[in-house]
Amino acid sequence: MTPANEPSFRESVDIMFNRAVALMDLPPGLEEKIRVCNATYTVRFGVRLRGQIHTFTGYRSVHSEHMEPVKGGIRFAMGVNQDEVEALAALMTYKCALVEAPFGGSKGGLRIDPREWDEHELEQITRRFAYELAKRDLIHPSQNVPAPDMGTGEREMAWIADQYRRMNTTDINSRACVTGKPINAGGIQGRTEATGRGVQYALQEFFRHPEDIKAAGMSGTLDGKRVVVQGLGNVGYHAAKFLQEEDGCKITGIIERDGALVDDDGIDVEGVRSWIAKHGGVTGYPNATHVEDGSSVLEKDCDILVPAALEGVIHMGNAANIKAPLIIEAANGPVTAGADEILREKGCVIIPDMYANAGGVTVSYFEWVKNLSHIRFGRMSRREEEARNELLVNELNKLDVHLGDNWSMSPDFKKKYMRGAGELELVRSGLDDTMRAAYQGMREKWHSQDNVTDLRTAAYLVSIGKVADSYRALGL
Ligand code: NAD
Repeated sequence: MTPANEPSFRESVDIMFNRAVALMDLPPGLEEKIRVCNATYTVRFGVRLRGQIHTFTGYRSVHSEHMEPVKGGIRFAMGVNQDEVEALAALMTYKCALVEAPFGGSKGGLRIDPREWDEHELEQITRRFAYELAKRDLIHPSQNVPAPDMGTGEREMAWIADQYRRMNTTDINSRACVTGKPINAGGIQGRTEATGRGVQYALQEFFRHPEDIKAAGMSGTLDGKRVVVQGLGNVGYHAAKFLQEEDGCKITGIIERDGALVDDDGIDVEGVRSWIAKHGGVTGYPNATHVEDGSSVLEKDCDILVPAALEGVIHMGNAANIKAPLIIEAANGPVTAGADEILREKGCVIIPDMYANAGGVTVSYFEWVKNLSHIRFGRMSRREEEARNELLVNELNKLDVHLGDNWSMSPDFKKKYMRGAGELELVRSGLDDTMRAAYQGMREKWHSQDNVTDLRTAAYLVSIGKVADSYRALGL
């Protein structure tokens, strides 16, 4: 249970912001300008479904327009409210600044349980919501560009893009009005996996720094680490899958809405994902032990805890019981400000949300650029690159023949080296580079300033500094 004195999500973000700002020397007034949310639009609209009119409530919040367009996902969930949307919009501002995606921060939400409606009904509701936002420029390629979030995916983004195009038939850049679209509707390879992939890259980068591993009281590499994941949706599934299949991690706990699965020998992520798709939850999955009280598994002994579902799950009521020495916030705001303090005092290292789940907005940025340039990445260069590589491989072939038994090319070298980078390879490379660079920026602050004792404060310092620079450049 969350204690009654727990700050709200937006208050938590503000507390964390204030903690960082206290260490900065910003001109009077600028701190307030950066912290406050510029505007929140609330819409209530009716849609005739199942023979009667149903009224829905939605929000689109714009936190900061120091850069435009503003960017941020659209969430479909029953818990959506103004406080939550404003907190998420603020996090988007800081996140975009941290990973140098040239956007301001925004977020949207619709109070709905998407599982209660069939596909056709959801399409009608989504299109109507998109219409309400687009007619106020709250969806627009140069002003406000949504993306998927909890409860939405590429299907909803395709409906939104099409709705905008119908309302702006002469806008040649209409596809750039939203990101996270399917490939055949202007999307980009690697967007669906991007946030989970970013979580993997973030952990890989963390484990490249012995000083940081030691700060968490850990040792070694990612290989063999015991991981507990909460939420096997878009972000949690991809993160868990890649960590299991590519980094040798053992997924020892998976927490979902209807309880958790545990197995110290490791749980097959693909197997659970297929089970959920068929049965709607983890209950009954035959190859692991089911725990009724799912959230108790957050407290399970493990090396890395990956909350990837929703905010506020690690709070003042359970923070002291968390055993993981390393938490990576794949979800937005999973650790409240109160819990953050308890965990910091315990020596737990938290890789903060604004960095950890920035893979989504990073690849959204690539998609937006692709839409505006109207060309797939790699289209001009791939074959040219292959031709050059072939030249080199041919020369090496000659050496191979010449040197006989003394030297030979490794079996797969020719095939691997010859291949020019396609869109997916370029997207992954750009994402990896972004995650490495942003981490290095944060850790530099963490280790170079005595009064910065955690990665979250470091992340805020970097991003608030960048937003402040933008405002100064604008003359504010
Ligand atoms: P999703 O809807 O695809 O998945 C959420 C998962 O969490 C679902 O499997 C759901 O069943 C599970 N869940 C819901 N309530 C739960 C509970 N009480 N306990 C355990 N599990 C629960 O959503 P997503 O897109 O994966 O987003 C998850 C988080 O990541 C959110 O905080 C979101 O803001 C953040 N995020 C998402 C993206 C993105 O690209 N999708 C980008 C950045 C941040």
